[in-house]
Amino acid sequence: MTKGLIISCLLLLQITLMAAERDSIVVTHIANCGFLIEMDASKMIIDGIFTEGFNAYATPDSIVLNKMIHGVEPFDNIDYVFVTHVHSDHYDPGLMANFLMNNQQSKLIGPNQVIQELKRQTDQFANIESRVLKCTPDTFWSMPENLDGVQVKGYRLAHMNEKCRDIENIAYAITVHNKTIFHTGDADPNPTEIFSGEQPSANRITLAFINGAFAYYKNFQVTNSFIGADQNVAMHFPKDFFTMKHEKITDVPDYYTEPVVFQESMERKVFYLLRP
Ligand SMILES: [Zn+2]
Repeated sequence: MTKGLIISCLLLLQITLMAAERDSIVVTHIANCGFLIEMDASKMIIDGIFTEGFNAYATPDSIVLNKMIHGVEPFDNIDYVFVTHVHSDHYDPGLMANFLMNNQQSKLIGPNQVIQELKRQTDQFANIESRVLKCTPDTFWSMPENLDGVQVKGYRLAHMNEKCRDIENIAYAITVHNKTIFHTGDADPNPTEIFSGEQPSANRITLAFINGAFAYYKNFQVTNSFIGADQNVAMHFPKDFFTMKHEKITDVPDYYTEPVVFQESMERKVFYLLRP
């Protein structure tokens, strides 16, 4: 093989790899509803900085927590941390304050209740306030101009369970270039039919992170019409789900676009665009 041909092959390989990178989303599971998402050059964490599992849900271990708080690979250069709501199986305000102090390039995006808890838990709020962005829409909210190259829409959807209706729960649609991810937080799939804002499915969702309620096959019609993602990751299952109830996800292939389920912390999967 001539030198020129080898260089041409290497260039072609590099171009192919770059195209594959642009057309993929790399997801690393933290625990429960927590994920590290890498899209193009953007890195973000959603609902990953927490320690409480209420004896039911998986939590990140101390090694993973330390890596996040200190910005150690793969949690280096995080651009944004999204928090869907204030519940402690999604969010720890003290750890979040440490994270923001240690990672000066990172910004937090969350509803008012999340920010109020952060204020209560740290005497350093003045030093991080400029990187804390509030997202508490009545029904629909969008702030494409505030984030460099990343478009965010926050959808305020009722939290599951009547007792939690006062919780500000924000589902996020986050777009980088040609890819959009969606994260439901603890949204209740049933009241979505009375949601008066723009439906998330009005955007083309590449990959949705749906809680267990959206993943039940009885709710799939709602999930499909309201979110309508090309691919789904189901999350927020009790730890014993994987041994006791796994058939709810896998046994209805004709009715349900089978979602991906992450079983372990730091499990990593690459999702490719199904449509150009
Ligand atoms: Zn919750």
